[in-house]
Amino acid sequence: MFIETYDLDVFTPPCEPGAERYSAIARLTVDITAVLPYLNATLRGAIYHQAANALTWKKSGHNIAFHAFEIATSNVVDRDAAIKELDGLVQLVNRTWERRQELTPSYQKRQRPAPMAVYQLLPKTNCKLCGEETCYIFALKLSVSQRQLADCPPLLEPEYIDKRRRLEEIVINMPAIG
Ligand code: SF4
Repeated sequence: MFIETYDLDVFTPPCEPGAERYSAIARLTVDITAVLPYLNATLRGAIYHQAANALTWKKSGHNIAFHAFEIATSNVVDRDAAIKELDGLVQLVNRTWERRQELTPSYQKRQRPAPMAVYQLLPKTNCKLCGEETCYIFALKLSVSQRQLADCPPLLEPEYIDKRRRLEEIVINMPAIG
C-alpha cells in the first residue's frame, strides 16, 4: 500500500464563515509525486501541472487537488462526506499505484480549446438544429462543456466524420468544470 496513514483536517474555509460547505486535507507522510502522471492518464478532465507537482480534478462539483504530500477536497456538503471522500481519494491513489504496470503515465497538461478552433470543425451551416442561433455560439458553449457533440445532429452525417473524430479528441481531453 502506497499511502498507509495520513492526518486529516476537516474545516469550513475561513473565507466563508458560516458556510455550509466543508473542505478537507489529508496530510501524507509519503511523497505521491510519482503517482500523479498515472492519475493524469486515468482521471478524465484532470489537469496536471508537472512543474508544480500538482494535479487538480473536479468530481461531482468538488474541487480536488493532489500535491506531493497532500490531497485536498472542497465544496463538500458535510463533515462526514468530506472524510469519506478523502478516504476514497487515498484509496484511488493506492489503487492507481498498484496498477501502474498496466498504465502509461501521462505528462500532458490539458487545456480548454479555443472556440474558433472548435468552430472550424463544425458544419458551419447555422442550421439551428442544436437550438443555437449559429454554429459559433454552439462552439462557444461546447468549449466550456455547456453543450455536447451529440447536440449537433449534422455531425453524424458521413461528410463530417473526420471532423467529428477530431472534435471527439478535443472533448475527451478537455478539463472538467464543476
Ligand atoms: S446543429 Fe450543428 S451545424 Fe447546426 S447550427 Fe448547431 S452546431 Fe451548427
